[in-house]
Amino acid sequence: LLEVSELAVAFGDLRAVRGVSLTVEKGQTLAIVGESGSGKSITSLAVMGLLPAQAKVVGGGITLDGVSLLDLAPDELRRLRGEELAMIFQDPLSALNPSLTVGYQIAEMFRRRRGASRAAANERAVEAMAEVGIPDAAGRARSYPHEFSGGMRQRIMIAMALALEPRLLIADEPTTALDVTVQAQILRLLRERQRAGLAMIIISHDLGVVARTAQSVIVMYAGQAVESGTVAEVYDAPAHPYTLGLMAASP
Ligand code: ATP
Ligand code: MG
Repeated sequence: LLEVSELAVAFGDLRAVRGVSLTVEKGQTLAIVGESGSGKSITSLAVMGLLPAQAKVVGGGITLDGVSLLDLAPDELRRLRGEELAMIFQDPLSALNPSLTVGYQIAEMFRRRRGASRAAANERAVEAMAEVGIPDAAGRARSYPHEFSGGMRQRIMIAMALALEPRLLIADEPTTALDVTVQAQILRLLRERQRAGLAMIIISHDLGVVARTAQSVIVMYAGQAVESGTVAEVYDAPAHPYTLGLMAASP
């Protein structure tokens, strides 16, 4: 489905990503693990075509079903983001409009992307919020982003990302802000979608979350993938000092 080969991304002279390769097949989940600043978010933003303006892809390729995403026109990429790709951002507030209710924002997405009627879109928005375990979804749909706790906002982001039924979901630290019960609930939801064919890239610091969701894993360090293989391969025989330290520090 997705193939990233030797991807390099630079901010001016700073190489944030230095030759990262990965593949994700339909229904499969790849985890990206790595220390802060190692290039995990920048790698996923490059796949989404959503790099910050100062960043540039300076090498490598990204293909979705063999189509080079780096060569697509901006409007084609935007269409792909509506129909095939979705991302849960590390910072939920960055992706929500503070002056519109959450229900309105999810419904608008349905209306625009799927051509649904206003009534149907509103109904789908409430459904999507209920699916990720937001209590009183119909009432809460009328709240603004800042009126939700961090964990609730994270769930809203997950609801928005799953609502359009993408083929590939990139989740950047999707459960970090969540308490363990909610985390388990979200992971269950993601696994259900996985069984239905959803491919995922999940970025996480939590090796337990990785083991429960992913089949394969890459470990990033200073912009490079220093480790890659099946979860069992990497967990059983970590090769890089960073991975060894991470394993030692994990419960
Ligand atoms: P974290 O676990 O903290 O989220 P990360 O692995 O996601 O870290 P990235 O956000 O991908 O890290 O950042 C990779 C590198 O790119 C870092 O060195 C960071 O300083 C740099 N970087 C990221 N965003 C910008 C930006 N907007 N301008 C300049 N440099 C940036
Ligand atoms: Mg990040």
